Amino acid sequence: MSVLAKLRQIVQEVSAAEDLESALALTVERIRDTMKTEVCSIYLLDGTTQRYVLRATEGLNKDAVGQVSLSPTEGVVGQVGTRAEPINLEDASTHPAFLYLKSTGEERYHAFLGVPIIHQRTVFGVLVVQQREMRRFDESEEAFMVTISAQLAGVIAHAEATGSINIEPNAKGSSADRPARHFNGVVGSPGVAIGEVRVVSLSADLNGVPDKSIKDIEAELEALDTAVAAVRQEITEIADMLANRLRNEEQALFQVYLRMLDDNALVTEIREKIKAGNWAQGALREVILAHVREFSMMDDAYLRERASDIRDLGRRVLSCLQEGASARIQSYPDNTILVADELSPAMFGLVPEEQLAGMISISGSGTSHAAILARSMGIPTIMGVVDLPHTRIEGRHVIVDGYSGRVFVDPNDDLLNAYSDIVKEERAIAAGLDKLKELPAETVDGHRMPLWVNTGLTADVERSLERGAEGIGLYRTEIPFMIRDFFPSEHEQTETYRRQLELFAPKTVTMRTLDIGGDKALSYFPIEEENPFLGWRGIRVTLDHPEIFLVQVRAMLRASEGLNNLRIMLPMVTSVHEVEAALRQIDQAYNELCEEGLDIRKPPVGIMIEVPAAVYQIGRFASLIDFISVGSNDLTQYLLAVDRNNPRVAGLYASYHPSVLLALQHIAHEAQRVNKQVSICGEMAADPGGALLLMAMGYDVLSMNANNLPKVKLAIRSVSYKDALTLLGRVMRMSDTDEIHAALRSALQESGLTQLTRPELPGEH
Ligand code: PEP
Ligand code: MG
Repeated sequence: MSVLAKLRQIVQEVSAAEDLESALALTVERIRDTMKTEVCSIYLLDGTTQRYVLRATEGLNKDAVGQVSLSPTEGVVGQVGTRAEPINLEDASTHPAFLYLKSTGEERYHAFLGVPIIHQRTVFGVLVVQQREMRRFDESEEAFMVTISAQLAGVIAHAEATGSINIEPNAKGSSADRPARHFNGVVGSPGVAIGEVRVVSLSADLNGVPDKSIKDIEAELEALDTAVAAVRQEITEIADMLANRLRNEEQALFQVYLRMLDDNALVTEIREKIKAGNWAQGALREVILAHVREFSMMDDAYLRERASDIRDLGRRVLSCLQEGASARIQSYPDNTILVADELSPAMFGLVPEEQLAGMISISGSGTSHAAILARSMGIPTIMGVVDLPHTRIEGRHVIVDGYSGRVFVDPNDDLLNAYSDIVKEERAIAAGLDKLKELPAETVDGHRMPLWVNTGLTADVERSLERGAEGIGLYRTEIPFMIRDFFPSEHEQTETYRRQLELFAPKTVTMRTLDIGGDKALSYFPIEEENPFLGWRGIRVTLDHPEIFLVQVRAMLRASEGLNNLRIMLPMVTSVHEVEAALRQIDQAYNELCEEGLDIRKPPVGIMIEVPAAVYQIGRFASLIDFISVGSNDLTQYLLAVDRNNPRVAGLYASYHPSVLLALQHIAHEAQRVNKQVSICGEMAADPGGALLLMAMGYDVLSMNANNLPKVKLAIRSVSYKDALTLLGRVMRMSDTDEIHAALRSALQESGLTQLTRPELPGEH
């Protein structure tokens, strides 16, 4: 096997390990074998003592594991950690930092190669190989160690973080004694929620299925049998149907599937897991994924391929089990914290709104669309909690800290009390804000700042009116498309749009044409791409599918008959010719409806500025369009080249990056020069500090989620326009995002708006 293949195999095996201990034990064993050396050990930095503790070894005395440790200033291991680079020595005992660790038996070994294990810029361990012979490890050995350490760092860090959940959920004794365990993610929607976890998974997503303990074993066994029988039937039917059209090898595949089901081994294994107390779906996941791992590690390419067959078969059984389960009524606790591998808008409706306290998504980030919707519904949400072992936390009590992006599992009483106080404070602030509804959004020196809302669900409209919104700046039409099983008809779309227009009339409703692609997928129109955010999304899709675009525009126009409060907005515009093509189709739709005899007014049409290319062409777009709206969520991602969904770079996604502010200011100036109304409908408008800056830049309308509107109104009513201009002047001279954040926070505090800044959280000062 090539070195690369070995490396891949080691990483796969370690990734599949059950817990940290077995991951570390496997790592040292495999590396020692592969490098044909005598010793391989791992030292991990203990967060409390700040010492490198020997956590696994092959070759040294195993009794020393967990017993011996070094400070970062001690020994060559400490040096590797402190310098964050490899140290390769012919004879470690001659190194000035050498410290002999008694009880390890390492005195016999001379050659030493240590490499740091670094995850997210932090050294958290050291990987060491040693040998009796006095020699330097050669370059290829050093390269191998550096490579494997870099690849395993994430895996080990993940195992270490998730491993901490294994504590008994209801440990005896005073809960105040228990340390608070937390997992980090990024803020999806601010606020605090305390509640009980319910894990949901996308249909037929094996990885997302949680473990659940059961009482009625017989019922689960029966559910399994029914599902297996249904799949057997389904496969037989497909095989029969395709019998004439398939070649022999392809037909054989169906036979393989049937054999896997008939050969009782697989089903028996699942039954055993059910008898041990897991529900059928969890038992299925355990067994299928274990086999998938086994097969994918095989040397033989044919056998490796079988892994995907087993996974496919597992998915089919799961989907039958899920159908059966959804027929039974699912009950949710009053304070449900919804947890999903990948939170999607379709999941929001699973829990009745009054019972949904908070949400957690393992993937995604603060500008994922699930997070945007969560904000509009005002549900505290954390995204990208990559280390949270979501399949193992069903029913656990958690605190969702939607200010710092932390999730606490099984919190102790002290923490619960501290967070309950914050929840109470938040309620009091919200009650105070309610009073603002009838008051205008006007600065103390009389500058009016129209505040509009972003909507998607019909429920948003009522919420928006309750909060005193003056118009809809962005209706995300793709949301009604996302919560269905196929494209809605023109008639259905007309009804949906009519509701938005009617409820808001005579106020303006800005409807964005279908903006799918990127992270917004329609299950019935899959777009699979390597780089979805740079691919086929927004207007690029709809221009390629006039049948979809025309139907949508016609539905919008029909819905507006007699109300005349519609505006149409085009997303993801990059070039002038796209706008021209879209306008031609809008004209066509309009003419068709006029021919039908409808009496409709031609609506204003505008574009979104979301792509850097559009920022510099406002003058050219001007003669074609009626208004401009900035989608700062996408504009930020494209200006900074940071995927808005990727938790790994979430820290780099900075809405207040100086270049983003410069672009926003440039857009406002250009729009004024060409005399077009300019609004902003990205999330920045929903942040009280951001809203003040945008007002000072000259934006005509701020459009935001309904939930934040009262806060933004309060901020605007508490400052003078003159002060906002001064603040903008100061901020535009700053070149550091953190400095800008600090300036905004202190500006809010100086205006007596401490309640609009983040509360002080437990553990922070
Ligand atoms: C934006 O990109 O800022 C925007 C408002 O559109 P969306 O978030 O729906 O992509
Ligand atoms: Mg966008």
